[in-house]
Amino acid sequence: MNPQSSNSHQDGSKASPNAHNQDNALISDQPSSTLLLNEIPQQVWTANTAGEINYVNDTACMDFGQTRETVLAYGWTAFVHKDDLAASIDRWKASLESGQEYTAELRLLFSDGNYYWHLAIARLVSQGNKSAIWIGTNTNIHIIKTSEARKDEFISIASHELKTPLTTSKGFHQLLLRMVEEGKIKTYLERSAGQLNRLEKLIADLLDVSKINAGKMIFDSKIFDFSAMLMNVVAEMQQIYPSHKLLLTAEDNISFTGDQFRLEQVIHNFISNAVKYSPDANKVEISVKVIDENIIVSVKDYGIGIKSNHLQQLFERYYRADNSSTRFDGLGLGLYISADIIKRHGGGFWIESSFGEGSVFSFKLPLIKSISIAPDIRTKSYYKDKHLIINCPIGSDIMFVEWTGYQDIITVKRGGSLMIDYLKENKRSKVFNDNRLVPGTWSEASDWAATTWLPLMELAGLKYFAWILSESAFSQLSAKKSVENDEKHAEILFFTQAEEGLKWLEEKPSNK
Ligand code: ADP
Repeated sequence: MNPQSSNSHQDGSKASPNAHNQDNALISDQPSSTLLLNEIPQQVWTANTAGEINYVNDTACMDFGQTRETVLAYGWTAFVHKDDLAASIDRWKASLESGQEYTAELRLLFSDGNYYWHLAIARLVSQGNKSAIWIGTNTNIHIIKTSEARKDEFISIASHELKTPLTTSKGFHQLLLRMVEEGKIKTYLERSAGQLNRLEKLIADLLDVSKINAGKMIFDSKIFDFSAMLMNVVAEMQQIYPSHKLLLTAEDNISFTGDQFRLEQVIHNFISNAVKYSPDANKVEISVKVIDENIIVSVKDYGIGIKSNHLQQLFERYYRADNSSTRFDGLGLGLYISADIIKRHGGGFWIESSFGEGSVFSFKLPLIKSISIAPDIRTKSYYKDKHLIINCPIGSDIMFVEWTGYQDIITVKRGGSLMIDYLKENKRSKVFNDNRLVPGTWSEASDWAATTWLPLMELAGLKYFAWILSESAFSQLSAKKSVENDEKHAEILFFTQAEEGLKWLEEKPSNK
């Protein structure tokens, strides 16, 4: 600290004693930027907008055991593990095109001949009159990555080792059950059979997670009767859970091509959760219908519900909402596995829930793998297909967009791109984005919206965006997540009442 610094700012204003201390520390202890850059344990680098690296700090030179000139001459790709190269180049190219943050996990070759895992992050920074630069860091995450891998390996070995003795004792158990007469011993054996089944399910979940992590989950795809499968699963589960009436509403004769065993597992998981998390209720409602070439399965319970801040994370590994971790047993793996199975079938999932009232877990599976949607009407100012209407009426300065039906990453991307085209073509700066007819959105669409779509909408002239929310909690979350990272060049407001959204837009200045 510099004892001579005065207790006043350069503009003459007095600072509080605390502010004085902080200012003082910043001014007097500030290391030179070169020292900071070279002593920081992370690799720091910059690149021009063409993607060429033009600076690396001393840490990078020391890690690679090369001079700065050599590192710059080789370029960073020379040090990346060949298995990580293609993915990291793809991400880098995408960031160079979109100007959005670059992140990648990759192994870098150090001077000791070993590869170490790094997390690379870079952002495009504007420099006033000069052209923008990319500033990036590579952080060594080798210890975290290797301990994660060791944990996964341990889980994989342990679950395999547990499975064999369990299968054997289950076999003997069944034999015993067949041999004994009705009575006390039989009752005890039946009870312990229930526990053995639970243990078997836990081990199977752990094995599945290891398979997903290692990219080894294999799907055996065949055509089967989805409606019949659902009826069988529900009938079977009704035996296991007599406490709840399982009410099924299903359309008949729905055929689907996919892995029947794995999809049964998803339904098992949704229904057993519905029962487990509704201990005071006595029914669970299951429905299956076909909408717009998608099978939609919903499982509704009248149980504890989930607070909205947990909804997005529930499909992550080991995640359990805080109200369930102590009261209900489980590992927090079922939904993670289910999400992987559904995604691998090209589908999506969403949750509606009211805390204390119950939840609806739904998923959709596309009946046609690649749907090409032909527009019903397409003019310069009007577009209509079965998911989307875009209307730029003459005499109004607003572009009206109405979304209909379930949305996923494909429909959202297509609709979002059309919105950009129509906004530009019709020179609008206000958008009325109506989601009232959207019963569900797949959450991955919101990541794309946040990183790619909104910045492009802003470039196309967007200034005011009234987002009329769907009643679906998951869609609302997706909508809000879509604007989370936006640097807010445009004003975006959410409305539950369409009239209010329209009024807000009308009061905004027109660009005409
Ligand atoms: P587990 O039930 O073993 O914890 P899951 O992956 O199946 O694992 O579920 C993850 C979490 O999601 C649960 O711990 C619980 O917090 C929440 N959850 C799942 N289904 C429901 C439901 N029907 N009602 C309330 N919470 C649920």
